[in-house]
Order: sequence, then structure tokens, then C-alpha cells
Amino acid sequence: MVKEEKYITCKGLYKIFKVSDLEVVALRGVELEVKRGEISAIVGASGSGKSTLLNILAGYDFPSAGTVEVGEYNLIGMKKKEIIKYRRNEVGFIWQQTSKNLLPYLNVRENIELPMLISGTDKDKSKRVDEILVALDLNEISKRYPKDLSGGEQQKVAIGVALSNSPSLLLADEPTGELDDSTGKIVLESLKKVNQTFGTTVLIVTHDPGIKTDVERVVSMRDGRTATEVIYEDLEGKEDEYSIIDSFGEIQLPQEALEKSKIKNRVQLKVSKGIINLEKGSDE
Ligand code: ADP
Ligand code: MG
Repeated sequence: MVKEEKYITCKGLYKIFKVSDLEVVALRGVELEVKRGEISAIVGASGSGKSTLLNILAGYDFPSAGTVEVGEYNLIGMKKKEIIKYRRNEVGFIWQQTSKNLLPYLNVRENIELPMLISGTDKDKSKRVDEILVALDLNEISKRYPKDLSGGEQQKVAIGVALSNSPSLLLADEPTGELDDSTGKIVLESLKKVNQTFGTTVLIVTHDPGIKTDVERVVSMRDGRTATEVIYEDLEGKEDEYSIIDSFGEIQLPQEALEKSKIKNRVQLKVSKGIINLEKGSDE
């Protein structure tokens, strides 16, 4: 199935944190588009702005400039009531810290049911929990408490909790960050299963480029910008890399192209009669 419907659109997103007199620019002109029903990943080194972006998409934080739309929601200028509705119904969030996702005094079943109790939904809660337990293969451990679960099991239950209110969007911030490789793989498999079973749009943030085999599309992030967009046409598939011109007119070359070009000093692009020429510019 070709996924065409635009679901997430970020344009020229800036986030500036003020720490005493200093300003930290965490996002500098992020451009992002995600289609409904896609499973994709944002990959970048620590400090590149991934969590900042995800927190904005989750409605936990707001950008300093730019626009963000998720489905019917325009995340800029939402009233408090609307923000609560958005967080409850539209998005589910999975934190890296496994312990942050679950309440220790509730068992697996109760943890998954809790968001529905809070939102006061009138749908059949027990039926929804059953659906989630089956999809994530958690039936056998449904009566256990978080302390009796492995890290991988805890993260799978966290996915279940995030799915409780049937959100359209699932956001996961380094969901495998605290897990070993093989357990991490199982958690990623669960996210894929959710995407396929419920049609949930899944966006995963990670510093691990290895994720490319598990998702349809990878967007890399560097220094607060979404840089090269790598599109994986199928899971083993061929890769195409695109350089991006953002809405400020800045061109971002893929890292590999930049390395190959051996550009050391500033170069100027001169467009003359439709032909682009590289000219040596003034040194920095
Ligand atoms: P990542 O998740 O990719 O590691 P973050 O989004 O957490 O990156 O951080 C991006 C940058 O913003 C970092 O330089 C970080 O120190 C800074 N930053 C993040 N959150 C805050 C905050 N609440 N106050 C000040 N600086 C912050
Ligand atoms: Mg982070």
C-alpha cells in the first residue's frame, strides 16, 4: 500500500533553550514530513536535538519558531484543553528509561488499562487490553508486576500502555537505549507489529544507524537540523540519498557527498543560464 496522506509536517522548526544568560539552539530549522501509517526513524548523535523534536511532537514542549501539524492538530497556539486532548487521544509516548513508563504497584494488565481509566473513555476497556496483550504477545505475563519483568518485557508493556487509548501516533525516544542488541531487536519487532496490526504511525528516535533495516524511512539529524533524508523503498531495499533545500533556501549536502567533494574552503554556487557552477569562494 502506498502511503500518501500527509500526517506530520514540521517547517522551519526552531527551539531555543535559555539557560541563565546562555542560549542553546537545540533545533535550527527542522523540516520533517511523515505520512500516515508510516514507520520511520530519526537517527542522530547525542545532542543533535532528537528528544527536543520528539517532545514537541508529543505536545510536552513548544517550539520557539516554525510550524508543526499532526493530523488535524496544529500544535502551535493550542489551548490547554486541546493540548490535553491531543496528548490523551492522538499520541502515545515511550520513554528510554524503562522504569519511567510503568507504575510499579500495578500489574501489566492494570498498567495498560490505566490511560483509558484516566481519559474516561466509554469503550470496552477490557476488550482493548486483550487486543493489545495479543498483539504484543503479553498474555502470559499479564498478571506480573514491573519488578518481575525483564527490561525488554517492560518496554513491550510500555508500548502497550502507549497504545491504550488507540492513538494514531506512537513516538518512541531511544526505546532500546537501555537494552542489549537482541532484546532491542524484539522491542523493534513489536513496534513493527503495532504499525502493521493497528496502522499506527510510528516514529522512533535513536542514535543507532542500524535501525534502518527495521523501518521504512530514516531521517538523519545533525546539529538541530534534519539533514539527509534516506529513503528505504523496501526493508532490504535500495537506498537513495537526497540533499535537501530547506524553507530558508539553505542546501544541505549528504555527508557522503560532502566527503567525496573534498570541499575544504567555502565554495560558491553560481547559477548561470540554468547551469550550476562551483566557484572557489573566500576562505573562512
Ligand atoms: P538528543 O536527544 O539528540 O541527544 P536533545 O534534544 O536532548 O538531543 O538536546 C539537544 C540540545 O539541546 C543539547 O545541546 C542539549 O544540551 C540541549 N537541551 C535539551 N533540553 C534542554 C533544556 N531543557 N535546557 C537547556 N538545554 C537543553
Ligand atoms: Mg535524547
